[in-house]
Amino acid sequence: MNERPRLTVLSGPSGVGKSTVVAHMRKEHPEVWLSVSATTRKPRPGEQHGVHYFFVTDEEMDKLIANGELLEWAEFAGNRYGTPRAAVLERLENGEPVLLEIDLQGARQVRESMTDAQLVFLAPPSWEELVRRLTGRGTEPPEVIERRLEAARTELAAEPEFDVTLVNTSVEDVASELLALMDVV
Ligand code: ADP
Ligand code: 5GP
Repeated sequence: MNERPRLTVLSGPSGVGKSTVVAHMRKEHPEVWLSVSATTRKPRPGEQHGVHYFFVTDEEMDKLIANGELLEWAEFAGNRYGTPRAAVLERLENGEPVLLEIDLQGARQVRESMTDAQLVFLAPPSWEELVRRLTGRGTEPPEVIERRLEAARTELAAEPEFDVTLVNTSVEDVASELLALMDVV
């Protein structure tokens, strides 16, 4: 058991199953605190403000960045996303396990600013399966899928930068591997 829980960062290409794995894990272990990011992206059906994201305007995002309120932020496929700093630090101070689900650029920034963070890469079983999952989710129009697949090529190439790689073949298996890495079980 660690003295102080580490910050864990889960990253990986869009469509690999990050949200699915995290949702599964938190159903059984609600004590794992997942940071809620701010984004300029529009909500998908069913997404709630303050639960899945804080949906903000471009101007609001400009302010969060200018005021130094974000631990990291990045532009991804045409929208900006960032992690509110205060909530993360507060949870870590309280000794709670903290999880960030963010893109590669964000993971790199966290590695610089929080040197004891644990960086976990979620990889697809194959490229074909990634395309299938991203397309099958049915939440993005074809041009957005194209953009995300382009970003995915860069993200997959960055896998060696991470401390650990988990291959998302089974959601249950990956969720329990992630819990073990976070010292929750
Ligand atoms: P991300 O959060 O990484 O963008 P999602 O969690 O939205 O990805 O998953 C993308 C799609 O892949 C969803 O339709 C989800 O149901 C499916 N999916 C996730 N994990 C698996 C898995 N292990 N096997 C098959 N399908 C999966
Ligand atoms: P989506 O639009 O599918 O919810 O997320 C797109 C990408 O943005 C995903 O790779 C997701 O992990 C990433 N993302 C979500 N929140 C943040 C954040 O706060 N910071 C960064 N850098 N990336 C984020």
